Order: sequence, then structure tokens, then C-alpha cells
Amino acid sequence: MQAPSRPKARVIFLGPPGAGKGTQAERLANALRVPRISTGDMLREHIVRGDALGKAASPYMERGGLVPDDLLVEMIRNRIAEPDCAHGYILDGFPRTLPQAEGLEEMIGGTKDVVVLDMEVPHDELMRRLSGRGRDDDKAEAVAKRLLEYKERTTPLVEWYAERSRFHRIDGFRPMDTVFADLISRVEAPK
Ligand code: ADP
Repeated sequence: MQAPSRPKARVIFLGPPGAGKGTQAERLANALRVPRISTGDMLREHIVRGDALGKAASPYMERGGLVPDDLLVEMIRNRIAEPDCAHGYILDGFPRTLPQAEGLEEMIGGTKDVVVLDMEVPHDELMRRLSGRGRDDDKAEAVAKRLLEYKERTTPLVEWYAERSRFHRIDGFRPMDTVFADLISRVEAPK
């Protein structure tokens, strides 16, 4: 017998580094039974493999800068064509710029049914969280650069998606379970 069809669940997480996107995206992916696609994780895997994409991406990542848009758009185009994305996916870390959002728009034919969750956390709390993290690309200077990149290049996406998708602003400065309950309710709300 064929499994009953389920609606496609496509979710985009927005929010600065340190907002808690990764953790919440993983929980949401498990709850919805769709893959979490973290572009940061994917890029780090390419770097570990030492392939062409990894070699191209690593100098940008070390400095806390963004990897060029065309590389990201092609990486996502290939990823969402994989069979495990048939019922949807959670995008964590993509799109991060307007050209990436345009690339996605073109690739999936519009984002009207896509849920966009914009996780916001006060700046002081972000600094506190990020300075305690200590990953390789989390050196103080790179942290500051990543927050600035977010502000300059990713925040314009808030306006972009507010008009084009099922957009929700989420207060990320609350206990993790409270945030998660909020996220789930937004995703499951009738369109
Ligand atoms: P964080 O969300 O904490 O900044 P990520 O793991 O999502 O960390 O990303 C780490 C780095 O990978 C980014 O600083 C950037 O250099 C690169 N990266 C990830 N996603 C993208 C993207 N969509 N566009 C450009 N660069 C990206």
C-alpha cells in the first residue's frame, strides 16, 4: 500500500548567527519528517573533503564573509533535487542574500506556500552566545563580521519574504521549548 500523501513542508529560517536556528531547525525537521539543509554544515563538509567547492568556499568562511551566491544557489539546486526532499525541507542558512532569494524563487517557482521563520534575539544576547561558542570560524573578529554581514545582506530578506511568503517573526529570546512550540504552531497553522 502506498503511504498517504502529505503536503510539502518547505520552511526557511532567517535570523542572525546565534539566534538558535540550527537547533530549532533540527527539531522542526524531525517533527515534520523532512531533511534539514544547513548550508554551513554542507560547506564545512566540502572543506573536509577538500573538493573544488570546499577550496573555493574556505577563504570566505574563515574571514566570516559570505561565500559567492552562484556557488550557494547551485549547491541548493542540487540538494533539493534529491529524493529525500520530495516532501519538503527546512532551509537553515539559505538564502542569505537577495540574489540567493531570487535564485530560489526561480528554482521552486515562487514562495507563496513557503513558511519563513525569522528568529530574532537582542544584539547583546547574540554577542554573549557567540563568544561562548568557540568553533573555528567563531574568532571574535569573524563573529563581528558575520553579524555585520547578516545585518547588511540578509535583513533585506525580511521585507522580501514578508510580501511573498507565510512570514512569521519569532522571538528567539525565550526558553528553547517555548520557541519550538511557537514555531510548530506557525508551520501547522492553516494557510
Ligand atoms: P552561522 O549561522 O552561525 O553564521 P553557518 O554554519 O550557517 O553559521 O555558516 C557558516 C559560514 O558558512 C558563514 O559565515 C558563511 O561564510 C558560509 N555560508 C553559509 N551559508 C551561506 C550562504 N547561504 N551564503 C553565503 N555563505 C554562506
